[in-house]
Amino acid sequence: MILAYHRINPWYRDDALSVNPEIFESHIKFLLEKGFKPVSLYDYLDEKVSDKKFCITFDDGFADNYFFAFPILTKYNIKATIFLIAHFIGTEKIHQKYTDREKDRYLQWKEIHEMIKSGIDFGSHSLTHPDLTTLDKKQLWDEIFDSKRFLQKNIGRKINFFCYPYGRQNEKIRQTVKNAGYLGAVVTNWKGKYDSYCLPRIGIYGHNSFFAFRIKIWLEKIRGR
Ligand SMILES: [Zn+2]
Repeated sequence: MILAYHRINPWYRDDALSVNPEIFESHIKFLLEKGFKPVSLYDYLDEKVSDKKFCITFDDGFADNYFFAFPILTKYNIKATIFLIAHFIGTEKIHQKYTDREKDRYLQWKEIHEMIKSGIDFGSHSLTHPDLTTLDKKQLWDEIFDSKRFLQKNIGRKINFFCYPYGRQNEKIRQTVKNAGYLGAVVTNWKGKYDSYCLPRIGIYGHNSFFAFRIKIWLEKIRGR
């Protein structure tokens, strides 16, 4: 199963996108105690890995992933994947929901480089986080392919996975992701068919109780993911 988080921080108690670091750690401990093995997305695609496996992913590339999630991921040796919005990295841009220039900023390159050395993987979440279903062919290709190329150039590693902004995608978009050379792509709340370009994820949010988290894990296990 693949878990999808956004932000990990102790600052925001009423923010759906923010999970408290202690709660995040309790999620990981729970999965490990239940015998789930942490794997990278790359290994997740490998059929040979046992089915009791989990991946951790983060969308948008908020700096708090580095401040609060990274130390926990390192402690438990978890090769998580962070989906970056390529043109927001190291900029002063702030998500419209938030206001604090330091707490709410996106990751910087030096933080990304440090995390790579410890085994964190990075994927593309497009160049500028548009709804891909509204774009023309050229814009679509730029968001999908140019973000891959841009990230690869700056990170020095192959970018293998894509995450659709707002989860918005269709057959044409999935085909474009494939043509751009990605190995796979992740979705959340997708009711259609699953394949490598529609890898299902469980969204974990700030308002989810620990009980709700356990139910989500249990349901996902029943679905055989
Ligand atoms: Zn996003």
